[in-house]
Amino acid sequence: MKRYSAFAIAKQACQQHSGWEKAWRSPVAKSEYDVVIVGAGGHGLATAYYLARNFGITNVAVIEKGWLGGGNTGRNTTIIRSNYLQDESAAIYEKARGLYETLSQDLNYNIMFSPRGVMMLAQTEHELRGFKRTAHANAIQGVKTKMLTPHQVKKKVPIMEINGPRYPVLGALWQARGGTARHDAVAWGYARAASDMGVDIIQQTEVTGIDQAHGVITGVQTSRGAVKCKKLAIVVAGHSGLLAEMAGFRLPIESVSLQAMVTEPVKPCLDVVVMANTVHGYMSQSDKGELVIGGGADGYNNYTQRGSFHHIEETVRALVETFPIISRLKMLRQWGGIVDMTGDRSPIIGKTPLEGCFINCGWGTGGFKSIPGSGWAMAETVAKGIPGDLAAPFGMDRFADGRFVDESVAAGVAH
Ligand SMILES: Cc1cc2nc3c(=O)[nH]c(=O)nc-3n(C[C@H](O)[C@H](O)[C@H](O)COP(=O)(O)OP(=O)(O)OC[C@H]3O[C@@H](n4cnc5c(N)ncnc54)[C@H](O)[C@@H]3O)c2cc1C
Repeated sequence: MKRYSAFAIAKQACQQHSGWEKAWRSPVAKSEYDVVIVGAGGHGLATAYYLARNFGITNVAVIEKGWLGGGNTGRNTTIIRSNYLQDESAAIYEKARGLYETLSQDLNYNIMFSPRGVMMLAQTEHELRGFKRTAHANAIQGVKTKMLTPHQVKKKVPIMEINGPRYPVLGALWQARGGTARHDAVAWGYARAASDMGVDIIQQTEVTGIDQAHGVITGVQTSRGAVKCKKLAIVVAGHSGLLAEMAGFRLPIESVSLQAMVTEPVKPCLDVVVMANTVHGYMSQSDKGELVIGGGADGYNNYTQRGSFHHIEETVRALVETFPIISRLKMLRQWGGIVDMTGDRSPIIGKTPLEGCFINCGWGTGGFKSIPGSGWAMAETVAKGIPGDLAAPFGMDRFADGRFVDESVAAGVAH
């Protein structure tokens, strides 16, 4: 595959951009692979990329029922941060954030990583205490965060009303190297680099069954026929419960719709990411000028990818209180994605009761930021057959053993 470069752009400009090759191959599935990955979201594609790059395993297929990046990876609000409370979470999210710093160079694909800073508002005394605790934990974990005073918050975000009637801003947890990236580009970049190393990405092909013999994985049934494999990685976010059922085990996961929306584009007015957990809304401004707004998850299980109207109303009401200037903006689009929620709001990465079958799920409302770290850890787990240091705390067995990695307080809402 030809590398993208300033020289290549200049050369293509001279020939009316007629010479670009396709970013990834679209092969027909072979009858057998060493590893089959179900789901071409960011996590599945990153797993494929690091399997090839870190372990030289390239006889890999990523099977996707729709188009790559069309699940939650292409539907999220792209917030990247690693200011989690528990050490295990901080380790994997900080690994991911660190990889994001140089991902464009690694993949030779501009993922538009923008470390503009993430601000998590404290709007109750309880929240303020909680964030101070997280800031102390982050200091020990080597994650760079600090607390801001209301005055410092206002200075960074002049459009914010910090003396709101219901919830004045009492401070904020600030991660300067947090930010955003272009979500599609992350999927496309991993797909292109993995495909270049020999990984087959098979789109428009649904996995409909999982084959096993004597408790060991042998392959998958798809809408286009059977594919044999020695190892299987299930990486399907909100559909994890369905795939687990095909494999014959149950997951402690609930699937719900999480919503987001964007306004019409306006001139630059917000150059950081602001999250307001108490009133339940968060906002950043895209490069196009749209205000990207994230809301809450539905209170009932569903697979709609749409969400319900009362959440839109709740989210907008909350944000108008904090950002009165958005009250006259028109809403352009609204959508939902099916997120996979665990009880402790931490992911599941590791082995399953079916030998040779591994799972990576449970990233819930916050798995975009973790894509590089998750792919790294999952590739190691699949390649070696046992989880490495990053993934080990997140095995399924923690729910039976009561070893929760409890982020339900630190990250219950945040993305
Ligand atoms: C509205 C919204 C906002 C969010 N905001 C943020 C945020 O700001 N920051 C953050 O870090 N995270 C955020 N998230 C969460 C984040 O998007 C997800 O955790 C992450 O994208 C999950 O990636 P994935 O690769 O696991 O899943 P997905 O991207 O959903 O990929 C799974 C893929 O599996 C495929 N699949 C399913 N079943 C099958 C089958 N039977 N056969 C073949 N393929 C199948 C699907 O089609 C899909 O493409 C948000 C999510 C939503 C919905």
